[in-house]
Amino acid sequence: EELKAAVHKVLMLGDHGVGKSALLQQFMTSEYMGAVDASFDEGFTDACEKTVSVLLDAEETTMDIIDVAYGKEQEHLNLPDVAAYIVVYAMNDRSSFLHAVEILQDIRKVEDKGAAVILVANKSDLVRKRKVNSEEAKGICSSHRSKYIEVSAALNHKVDDLLVGAVTQIRLRPKRL
Ligand code: GDP
Ligand code: MG
Repeated sequence: EELKAAVHKVLMLGDHGVGKSALLQQFMTSEYMGAVDASFDEGFTDACEKTVSVLLDAEETTMDIIDVAYGKEQEHLNLPDVAAYIVVYAMNDRSSFLHAVEILQDIRKVEDKGAAVILVANKSDLVRKRKVNSEEAKGICSSHRSKYIEVSAALNHKVDDLLVGAVTQIRLRPKRL
């Protein structure tokens, strides 16, 4: 009997304009990115879903990455069996951070299966426009059991670390029957 490889559901959440599409675009061109099995695009700035395989340490992990359109979070947060939540804000936009904190709280209300939760501070290239410092963001992460990473999708800085971190966290999840 053929074993069907698991496809891990990954949600990308966060305000409009924080750089979710830009991050997803950088994922696609990463050296870790293998096959892109199927993709579904719903317009330029709207929701988008891609099934991709990442090759890391000679192991393949298949993920269904859903770029959740702003305002559609609630219906997606109720999806069963999400393996990882990537919650993005822009570090030059304080309201996007406050919204990300709300999303983390909402995730903790529905999540009980050890999904990976990663808070992503994007636009690290805009250092002089920074409105959220690392300590504040890390404090939020430790109280919401989430990981924290600062990236720049524009400069492709640390974006691979985010991708590898997400895959590593997904692999570390407790195995279910
Ligand atoms: P989304 O609405 O979350 O999907 O955000 P987009 O990926 O469409 O990005 C919104 C805007 O922010 C675009 O103009 C991007 O070029 C810009 N942007 C995305 N990532 C970065 C970044 O790391 N640094 C800077 N300076 N701009 C970025
Ligand atoms: Mg987008």
